[in-house]
Amino acid sequence: MIADLHMHSTASDGLLDPLELMTEAASAGVSLVALTDHDCLDGLPAAAQAASELGMHWVSGVELSAQWQGHTLHVLGYGFDPQAPALMDSIEAVKHGRWQRAEQIARKLDGKRMPGGLEGAMAAQIAAGGDPNSPPARPHFADWMVQAGFVRDRAEAFRKWLGAGKLGDIKQHWPELAEAVAQIRGAGGMAVMAHPWHYGFTRSRLRRALKDFAQAGGRGIEVVNGQQAVEQVAYLGKLSEEFGFLASCGSDFHTPESPWTALGRMTALPPQCTPVWDDPVFSR
Ligand code: MN
Ligand code: MN
Ligand code: MN
Repeated sequence: MIADLHMHSTASDGLLDPLELMTEAASAGVSLVALTDHDCLDGLPAAAQAASELGMHWVSGVELSAQWQGHTLHVLGYGFDPQAPALMDSIEAVKHGRWQRAEQIARKLDGKRMPGGLEGAMAAQIAAGGDPNSPPARPHFADWMVQAGFVRDRAEAFRKWLGAGKLGDIKQHWPELAEAVAQIRGAGGMAVMAHPWHYGFTRSRLRRALKDFAQAGGRGIEVVNGQQAVEQVAYLGKLSEEFGFLASCGSDFHTPESPWTALGRMTALPPQCTPVWDDPVFSR
C-alpha cells in the first residue's frame, strides 16, 4: 500500500488543481491520500470526491503554520471535520492576515518607487496557475518585479528586497504551536508535526519542540518527507519511538517539475514505526 499524506494543490502553492492532483496520485499507485494545503481547506471537497471516484482512501488534511519560540513550524492535521466552525474561523483569520501582509509588502515597495505591486503580484500568481482568491506571496512579488524590470531575476528580488531581513520581509502572525494543535484536535483530528528535520534545529532544540508538541496533544511526526535521506528518516523514526509518536509519510508534492517530491515516491517508513493510519481517525 502506498500512503501519501502530504501534498499541495492550487488552493495553496501547488501547481495542480485538486482533481488533477488526485488523478496523478491515483496513477502513481497511491491508495491512501490526504491533500494538505497551507492554511487552507478550500481544495478538500473537490479532492474528496475525486479520490473516492478514483478508489483511493481519503482523509481530510491541512498544513497549518504555527509559531514556536520565534520559529515557524508546520503542523499537519488529519481526519478532522472540515466544516468545524472554530477551525474554519481561525483559517479565515490567517487568510485575512496574509492579505494584510501582501498589502504591506506592496506599500513598502511603492515607497521605493516600485508602484503597483499588489496588482502585479496578483497577476503573476494567476499566470502561475494560482488561485486568484488567495493572497499573493513573496515569490509572486518577485516574479512581478522581474517582469516590471526592477530586478533581473527572482534571486535578485529576494537578495535586495524580499529576503530575510529585507524591506519586503514582513512577518506574518501565526497561531502558537499549542493553539494550532488545539484547533485540529477541537475539530476531531490528529495533529502531526511536519518535516521535523527541515527546521534546521539542533538536536536539543528539536527535542524541546517535540516535547512541547506532545504536551499540547500532538500525536505524530512526519518521519518521511519525500525522498528524504535514509539516515534522517532513521533518526526521526527513533525519535518517534522515543516520544511515543505515530509516524506519518508524504511526498510534499508541489509541482511535477521537482523529481524529489514526486507523488507516491517516498523513502520507506522504518519498520519499527507505528503508522498514523493505525489510528481510528483514519478509518472514519
Ligand atoms: Mn509550500
Ligand atoms: Mn511545510
Ligand atoms: Mn508542505
